[in-house]
Amino acid sequence: MQTTSKKSAAVLGLGMMGATLARLLLDKGYTVTVWNRNKDKSLPLAEAGATVAATPADAVSAGDVIVMCVHDYAAAEAILAQTESAGWKGKVFVQLTSGSPAEAERLEKWTEAHGAGYLDGAIQAAPQQMGREDTPIFISGKPAAWDEALAVLKVFAGAPEYLGAAAGLASSVDLATLSGIYGTLMGFFHGARIMEHAGFPVDKYAGLLTGILSTFGDFIQYEGTLVHENRFAKTESPMSISVDATARILQQASDAGIHRAFPAYLAGMFQKAAEMGLADEELSAMIKVLRAA
Ligand code: NAP
Repeated sequence: MQTTSKKSAAVLGLGMMGATLARLLLDKGYTVTVWNRNKDKSLPLAEAGATVAATPADAVSAGDVIVMCVHDYAAAEAILAQTESAGWKGKVFVQLTSGSPAEAERLEKWTEAHGAGYLDGAIQAAPQQMGREDTPIFISGKPAAWDEALAVLKVFAGAPEYLGAAAGLASSVDLATLSGIYGTLMGFFHGARIMEHAGFPVDKYAGLLTGILSTFGDFIQYEGTLVHENRFAKTESPMSISVDATARILQQASDAGIHRAFPAYLAGMFQKAAEMGLADEELSAMIKVLRAA
């Protein structure tokens, strides 16, 4: 894939992440123009060599690749409304603000109507982890925009992952992976209450769980392949085991006076699977419960 090397960039939004992105671009020799609502946050970057734009429109006019990273899309759209006078034509807009697939699609329409290319990105790393070979960044948008912005994206992550042309894909990946992480975290916290009740140190329990999770990736990959291929015949982990296990977790929460919300949700979902006649199928059949909703 051919990469156009554009060496001038603008960064709108200089919070913890945006300021990091601007600094990485300066370190790589880019001509960087920055803008932030609170001007004080521009000062350290000005000292590092960035030009501070007086308005968002001035910042857009100054860069070939326009990077935005602000709190949310409401903030993003409030800023973009101030750029109508800027010459967007021929530029590429890289939106790294977290949002939803629908917000990304809406912003792509807005950007293309202004004559620029659009990419949407999901950063799944903390500011101090940016700019490394293994920094996880997921990007979606039209291939032409990807080609235009690739050099800049490679400053932020050694191997940014291109998901495809639909602008909302990066947000979808963000929401899907966060769902996996928050589900696991809530399970961890519920487990912590079980162990507190048992008088067992939670830090030791965290170590035990971490040991199990390190091998759990293979199992998730296996179940993911089965779901993708619509394979539900019992091979590895029958649904019935989980129906019983989650009922036990809920019962123990009741017995011990532990918050019931998390196990009630789990047990309810597996009970629903049993009611749908899936008890004798592979765990992957849980997707049928969710698809039926
Ligand atoms: P932050 O430090 O809280 O900065 C928020 C930025 O948004 C600031 O530049 C702030 O401007 C601006 N902003 C908020 N409301 C605004 C408005 N109405 N108009 C104009 N500007 C507004 O946040 P951050 O950590 O940099 O995160 C920025 C984005 O990156 C978020 O979408 C976040 O989900 C995503 N992200 C962050 C991390 C992380 O670890 N930090 C990781 C992955 C993704 P002021 O300075 O003027 O308030």
